[in-house]
Amino acid sequence: MGRDVDLFVIGGGSGGVRAARVAAGHGARVMLAEEYRLGGTCVIRGCVPKKLMVYASRFAEEFEDAAGFGWTLGTARFDWGTLKARRDAEIARLEGIYRSLLDGSKVAVADERAVIEDAHTVRLLRSGRRVTADHILIATGGAPSLEPPIPGGELAITSNDVFELEEQPERVLVVGGGYIAVEFAGIFAGLGTRTTQLHRGDKLLRGFDEELRDALGEAYAWRGIDLALGLTVRRIAREGGELAATLSSGEVRRFDRILVATGRRPHVEGLGLAQVGIEVDAAGAIPVDAYSQSRVPSIWAVGDVTNRANLTPIAIREGHAFADTVFGGRKTAVDHRLIPTAVFSTPEIGTLGLSEEAARRLHGDDVVIYKSTFRPMKATLSGRNERMLMKLVVEGRTDRVLGVHVLGHDAGEIIQMAGIALAMGATKADFDRTVAVHPTASEELVTMRTPYVAKAPAAS
Ligand code: FAD
Repeated sequence: MGRDVDLFVIGGGSGGVRAARVAAGHGARVMLAEEYRLGGTCVIRGCVPKKLMVYASRFAEEFEDAAGFGWTLGTARFDWGTLKARRDAEIARLEGIYRSLLDGSKVAVADERAVIEDAHTVRLLRSGRRVTADHILIATGGAPSLEPPIPGGELAITSNDVFELEEQPERVLVVGGGYIAVEFAGIFAGLGTRTTQLHRGDKLLRGFDEELRDALGEAYAWRGIDLALGLTVRRIAREGGELAATLSSGEVRRFDRILVATGRRPHVEGLGLAQVGIEVDAAGAIPVDAYSQSRVPSIWAVGDVTNRANLTPIAIREGHAFADTVFGGRKTAVDHRLIPTAVFSTPEIGTLGLSEEAARRLHGDDVVIYKSTFRPMKATLSGRNERMLMKLVVEGRTDRVLGVHVLGHDAGEIIQMAGIALAMGATKADFDRTVAVHPTASEELVTMRTPYVAKAPAAS
């Protein structure tokens, strides 16, 4: 007996939408369920609205810098409500585009929550409809997790809630040291909120190149972000109109809002996984093979719910590769090894490949570092105290570039291009024979000739 559809996709985010459209393009009959808004985390409450807020947060410095170039500006004033309304309208427009792309691809969309009943059946909770499918793709993404729990944590907000705030907080505490916490601290500070960022570690952005971490910490402190490092929040309590955070040091600090951005968990609650014999791993993620197939042959999973590399372009690739594998007659696995990424802090970070520390763990002494820290040209007239950092991590024996790390203006744009070079296996000699574009900051990446040697400690 034929099933209702060839593919049922649960989740209309980056991975699910791509998989549905590509599978339909291969001729599959596809249905997709989305319980919230089409576009998923990235479009509705992640990358896109965040980046719009990052843009907003950078104007204050631009206005200040303009004076050094001869401009006289009136008093600048920021209105949170205007930004929110315009951002929300743009997100609604994008959501509409996602819907019309799915319609245009002949993917049937159910605007409701779906759960798995058995290896070939999905139940739609609002309509009560049951749909049978040859294949089920789980693309339910992730959700903010308040782990470890903080007493009074329900008074805090998550990254999802930031986009719903009707008013700009005057004082905010951002808890967490990962990229999402770092980005929101930068946004709030740029918009004029008095910002404290608290992190249990001694530096932000664990796992990144240490010099990037140091440079970002310095830049954040310089921008007036109060970094409370090596601390945790013991409890949160409401005191009148304020939130009082008791820190592990015993100190009590008061804020208007507390944003907890300490991590995300795969979104699998109540999905019916146990019923079909799928056990999640320690991180709560669905284990899959290189082709995104779970241990139940008809059930597949892509994107954040598999916790491989929790980024939109990866979810999209995994969704595409799944559709090509199952419906396109071309078995395709995604290479997760070399992923260029940006952190939209101000200053921005672009990073790719191995950090110096990771390279030294793998290659010992056979690692050559090229490094340049300099004042960007714009800062000469603006007078802003800022530095850019560019760093190449090279394997000595092969001359292969193992890592590229950039901190400063447009680092995200720069690292995308470096990504092509590294994907092609570029050597330092390849970088050297590339003609510089002058005057730019990124020309430093192709003009660094002398390896960086750490200075010996001064003799006592
Ligand atoms: P999602 O996009 O999360 O989509 C999952 C969808 O499934 C959701 O719409 C959800 O409502 C739906 N769903 C869940 N369960 C069900 C169910 N049972 N039935 C029906 N629907 C269901 N990545 C980048 O690459 N660059 C960035 O700059 C970036 N910034 C980010 C900033 C923030 C604040 C956050 C939170 C994330 C950011 N990310 C960024 C990560 C990126 O958003 C995710 O990696 C990406 O969205 C994952 O796509 P996905 O398809 O796996 O899941």
